[in-house]
Amino acid sequence: MDEKTRLVDENGIRLDGRKPDELREIEMKVGVLKQADGSAYVKWGKNIALASVYGPRECHPQWQRDSRKAVLRCTYNMAPFSVDDRKRPGPDRRSYEISKVTTEALESVVLVENYPNTAIDVFIEILQADAGTRCVGLTAASIALADAGIPMKDIVAACASGKADGEIILDLFKDEDNKGEADLPIAIVPRTGEIALMQLDGDLTREEFEKAFDMAVAGGLKVNEIQKETLLKEYKKE
Ligand code: ADP
Repeated sequence: MDEKTRLVDENGIRLDGRKPDELREIEMKVGVLKQADGSAYVKWGKNIALASVYGPRECHPQWQRDSRKAVLRCTYNMAPFSVDDRKRPGPDRRSYEISKVTTEALESVVLVENYPNTAIDVFIEILQADAGTRCVGLTAASIALADAGIPMKDIVAACASGKADGEIILDLFKDEDNKGEADLPIAIVPRTGEIALMQLDGDLTREEFEKAFDMAVAGGLKVNEIQKETLLKEYKKE
């Protein structure tokens, strides 16, 4: 993409043909891994994530045990082959940060008090990345937890919005994320309207923030519809 290419044209159409408030195409599946207690596959635009859940199971190391609740541990990992320039394998600052915010978002819905002294492990593997992977991973992890039969107050759904070429847009893909002015990933608890995650990279005025926030919430609600359809499709079949 050359420097002069506009991310949003004069008709409000984006480089990939989407309107400002349009999501990328999303495909979800649960129960995709035999060895896990729960699992999910999410293809979201060019992002591909696999989430697996193990537990509640005995908590090791023992010092992490909590006699009042289960310890929820989420690990986000981006595969070396998930991006154009090979990513250095293993954890880095970014993956620690995403693992932490994902854990905190899911802790707000999982009924951890039901399983004292145990651990619930969630592994999120990003196999293909094209921006928005923390939202894709969190969305996948939520339905993998449901697939594992772990009781939750609700299914958390995530979606980002942001700003490119001065326009507020939904669900940024790589070029928009790289060259745009702001990225606002959020996660919602649809039943209560609570916000389980919110981060902001870049600058937005208060007015822009409010528009972007409403757009991301609306996007999250659409994502949540797909999550529910996916779970119902799996569990309603004979
Ligand atoms: P998110 O994926 O949640 O949007 P970031 O904003 O940190 O998180 O990353 C945006 C995108 O940049 C990622 O989806 C990925 O496509 C790319 N990216 C992130 N880290 C790396 C890396 N170490 N090497 C190459 N590309 C990366």
